[in-house]
Amino acid sequence: MYYIDPHVHMVSRVTDDYERMARMGCVAISEPAFWAGYDRGSVDGFRDYFRQLTDFEPKRAAAVGIQHYTWLCINAKEAENVALSREVIAMIPEFLNRPNVLGIGEIGLNKNTLNEATVFQEQVDLAMKTRELILIHTPHLQDKYKGTRMIVDMLLNDKRVEPERVLIDHVEEHTVRLAREDGFWCAMTLYPTTKCTPARAADIIERYGDDRIMVNSAGDWGPSNPLAVPDFVMEMRRRGHSDSQIKKVVYDNPLEFFRQSKHFRFTPPDTLAGREPADAI
Ligand SMILES: [Zn+2]
Repeated sequence: MYYIDPHVHMVSRVTDDYERMARMGCVAISEPAFWAGYDRGSVDGFRDYFRQLTDFEPKRAAAVGIQHYTWLCINAKEAENVALSREVIAMIPEFLNRPNVLGIGEIGLNKNTLNEATVFQEQVDLAMKTRELILIHTPHLQDKYKGTRMIVDMLLNDKRVEPERVLIDHVEEHTVRLAREDGFWCAMTLYPTTKCTPARAADIIERYGDDRIMVNSAGDWGPSNPLAVPDFVMEMRRRGHSDSQIKKVVYDNPLEFFRQSKHFRFTPPDTLAGREPADAI
């Protein structure tokens, strides 16, 4: 089965991971801008990162036949430095016309602070002024419900925001309804230890349905598995779900959401050279 990983941080992964993903049937990914594991010291640190996301990574992905898309922002962890955040927000438009940029993300909250909320709203404002899609990071563990509630309220208070153009990520059992009830899209992150496992994600799909929801690996520099989406496919098959039902979550839904971006020029795999890879799930 062909699939799309809508949230994976390939700057943290080796080329072998791209190759393994391609062999398993991955045809496209989207890579949000995130925290590098350290706070960057200047706007130029972000400018170089955005060059990597819009220039180097698409080439690395294309070498194995994967289409690479990306999202730009300053993440919530670095948003405590409001002055630097504003410099980054002012610089982002330099990159918005690059051909693989889908929108602004992953923006959101980390510790649910006032500074994070300020920078979040200023990035929503940028997305509205430039007519970009938005990808949202929701906080982890005990802060998740409160942070998701704050994010949804901020989005609903901005009357320019169209919920169908916003994807709220890292939802779990206690936030999936909240994230989706006003018309937003949502996604589950499949992690080996925290966030959702493939089995929990399958439970959530069975309980809440498969509309406006997708799954991703978020593969990054921490413990994570860039092949977590194929693991989810296997879990769904084990439970007896049909391939067309599974494909809706891992392929059709990301396509439907991404197609709203002016830069999403997806080439369907059946028009690509060659056939489905031998190891495809
Ligand atoms: Zn992420």
